[in-house]
This record gives sequence, structure tokens and C-alpha cells, in this order.
Amino acid sequence: MVRRPFINMDITGYFDDTPGANKSIIVIHETVSHDHSGLSDIKSIASYLGSKGLGIHLIVDQEGKSGYSFDEGAIYAHARGNNTDTIGIELISFIPALRLTPWKRFRIWLSRERQLHKAARWCAYYSDRHGFPLRYSGGKVPGITSHYDISIVNNVSGGHWDAKPKHKGGHFPIKRLVKLAKLYKSGKLAYAPIRSFKMGKST
Ligand SMILES: [Zn+2]
Repeated sequence: MVRRPFINMDITGYFDDTPGANKSIIVIHETVSHDHSGLSDIKSIASYLGSKGLGIHLIVDQEGKSGYSFDEGAIYAHARGNNTDTIGIELISFIPALRLTPWKRFRIWLSRERQLHKAARWCAYYSDRHGFPLRYSGGKVPGITSHYDISIVNNVSGGHWDAKPKHKGGHFPIKRLVKLAKLYKSGKLAYAPIRSFKMGKST
């Protein structure tokens, strides 16, 4: 059994109560924040999403802090076309606001180890709890996918393109995330590394 990662903030109350459903796909999202230390980023993104009638199951910031909805089965509006069977994870960072090539964005993502590792631990936890495999999913089959993939697969016009995977010409290290999640699920990794962590909006 994968132990639930530490919860820094309960975000359940920000979103409307919705019926529960079985979950089989994790959808990775990116939203701009200013990488402030503490919980202010998580709080403001949760309250923004809630005010728009949207919702998300988990928010992870640069420090690896987690805002968690205890309503794990909730059908939140976060990935049009695939809300029912998906768990949404919002990764907040300054990366979407940077005018950089996909390669440079990718490099910055790799340097945000605390955030990536914490998201991976959550993926391991959700996978264990809900019984779906840890693998990259293009959006149709159980596994881990990106909001970009969901928009493509469901042909959502004006869809969202966040967390576009690097291997599809984007910048997000989704295969790295899947790999780390597998290591956490199997117990080969226990805790996120601390050595390379520093606050800041780049590298
Ligand atoms: Zn998104």
C-alpha cells in the first residue's frame, strides 16, 4: 500500500459538491503562479478555479506543498471531454508565462525536483487506491496523461494545451513523471530529494 503524501492544505471546500465516479486516468495541468513560498499560491489557484465553477483534485507547488481535495471521486470540471473518470493534478509554476523554447521549459521543469517528485508520489498513491496502471496514456486508456492530450483526443475546440508532453513536441517531462511514480509505487524511492531545491522562478 502506498502511504498518502503529506497534505499541506485541504482544498475540498473551494469546489462544488459533485457525484463520485471511478477514476482511471490522471490529467496533468499547468497554471501560472509566481512561485511564492508558503500556501498562498495554492490558496489563490483553488479559489480562482472554484469561482469559475471549475475544480481540481490536487494542487502541487514548487516547494512540493500539496493542496488536496478529500473528495477523491469528485467529477470536477478540469478536462473537458474527460471529467468523469479523471483525477486532475494542477502543477503551478511560472513556466507557462516564460517566453522560452519548449527545450528550455523542459530543462526548468526537470530542475523543479521537489514538485515533480511530490506529484509522482501522489500519482503512485492514486494509482494504488484506484487500481489503474502507471504508464503514459494518450488520453483514452488508463494511466497518466496531460490536458494537452485530453484536448486533442476529444477534439475540444479552443481546448487547453497545458503540460504538452516533450515527446510530442512540447515541454513537459511526463515520461519522467511516470517513471518516478513507478519508483515510488514500488518502494524504490521514498522521499523527494532536497539537494537541488531553491526558490526562484527559473532553473
Ligand atoms: Zn489544464
